[in-house]
Amino acid sequence: MRKFAIIGGGQAGLHIGFALLKAGHAVTLYSDRTPAEILGSRIPSTAFLFNSTLDMERELGLNFWEDLVPYGEGMHVDFRDPTGAIGLTVQGRLEGRKGQALDQRTKFSRWLEEFPKRGGKLVIKAVSVEELDQISAENDLTIVTAGKGNINALFERDDQRSVHTKPPRHLAALLLTGPKLMGDRPWLRVPFRPLRFNFVAGAGEFFSLPFYTHTVGECRSVLFEAIPGGPIDRFQNAQSGEELLEIAKGVIREFSPDDAHHFEDVQLTDPNAWLKGAFTPTIRKPVGRLPSGRFVMGVGDTVVLNDPITGQGSNNAARMSKFVIEKILAMGEGSFTPGWVSDVVDTFWHESGQYTSAFTNALLNPPPPSVMEVLVAASQTPAIADKFMQNFDKPSDYWPWLVDLDLARKFIVDNGGHLAA
Ligand SMILES: Cc1cc2nc3c(=O)[nH]c(=O)nc-3n(C[C@H](O)[C@H](O)[C@H](O)COP(=O)(O)OP(=O)(O)OC[C@H]3O[C@@H](n4cnc5c(N)ncnc54)[C@H](O)[C@@H]3O)c2cc1C
Repeated sequence: MRKFAIIGGGQAGLHIGFALLKAGHAVTLYSDRTPAEILGSRIPSTAFLFNSTLDMERELGLNFWEDLVPYGEGMHVDFRDPTGAIGLTVQGRLEGRKGQALDQRTKFSRWLEEFPKRGGKLVIKAVSVEELDQISAENDLTIVTAGKGNINALFERDDQRSVHTKPPRHLAALLLTGPKLMGDRPWLRVPFRPLRFNFVAGAGEFFSLPFYTHTVGECRSVLFEAIPGGPIDRFQNAQSGEELLEIAKGVIREFSPDDAHHFEDVQLTDPNAWLKGAFTPTIRKPVGRLPSGRFVMGVGDTVVLNDPITGQGSNNAARMSKFVIEKILAMGEGSFTPGWVSDVVDTFWHESGQYTSAFTNALLNPPPPSVMEVLVAASQTPAIADKFMQNFDKPSDYWPWLVDLDLARKFIVDNGGHLAA
């Protein structure tokens, strides 16, 4: 049995914590908030998990909401011009890769309660760098999964892998209930329960997902990704969820008028069901050096932080956690070293992380010709649309055609599509 400490009780920290407990190790997890505080806090995210991530949670016996959370069965995407007129529609099914979006307040508070029941030690404390030094002295490996918490300053920015120097989007999100938002087929022209995406040229994007929260049960999330200074960048001065909702309705009426009736008679699920803000996506080096010279390992958003436009943050954190756990368990009794940490995270980056970040960054910009041709073909050929949407579950599957026009054309033809004239 080895001793591990984990800082942060979110997607990555709890995933790693439960997996290490299952393997028979001693794990202490530090969370800066109690389960009750998390339940009563503002929403931190509106994360949708794809099937592979759900499978990881199923394997750990953590899928307590399996029968409660409505499945997102596919994606219905409209690409619009700056006035909101639709230029292209792509509709694809997730099929075997359908996913679920569960309120992180609901999930992490319950998982934190579960952690001591499975033999873990839970400590409620916002860990400082000084305390981290002491914690790392007492454990075989200390893993920092503090998300966007300030402690991630311990990890140096990786200038080669980071492409952003400022936030590419200003974000605003809400959880809503409404008679025309929920149920199996809320959008009549979509033959499944959709993740509803709108891309508005020059303005940004907004998405609505089938969702579940402890406060009301089934609901829908809406996330706005506003290009800073652009025409939907209207949310940042809002002082309340109600104010944010009024702005949201105005944006939808103006840029996606065909969706507006879905947002009549909607309500926030609870007074805390909203967020706004911005952050700079950043890739950091995974070895954090402490004042004593000891080191800690970063996992999840702490070291691979992407914009939410492609819904990859939690999915990437889970993929990275699974990868790190496998390497920890494969190591047996050997010592953890900074070199080992760098090797593990480099391998993960090359096999998976780099594709997630590159796919995410690609969608923040106007699509290159390779993507544009595939999207046009996807609008005409369902098999291509399905493949495009299913690859969200494993972004490396977009390669190599995502960045190569000839290979993109081959991908279209191989999947029964026609090349644009
Ligand atoms: C608006 C929005 C929408 C999103 N949508 C999606 C989506 O659709 N799909 C998707 O996969 N991802 C999505 N994400 C991203 C996703 O929420 C994150 O990537 C994911 O939660 C990261 O997991 P993590 O464990 O690294 O960090 P977190 O889940 O943020 O957990 C970190 C935890 O550490 C705690 N902590 C911080 N500092 C300390 C400290 N010093 N001591 C102790 N505890 C500490 C924090 O309070 C927090 O509880 C979205 C994010 C946003 C903002």
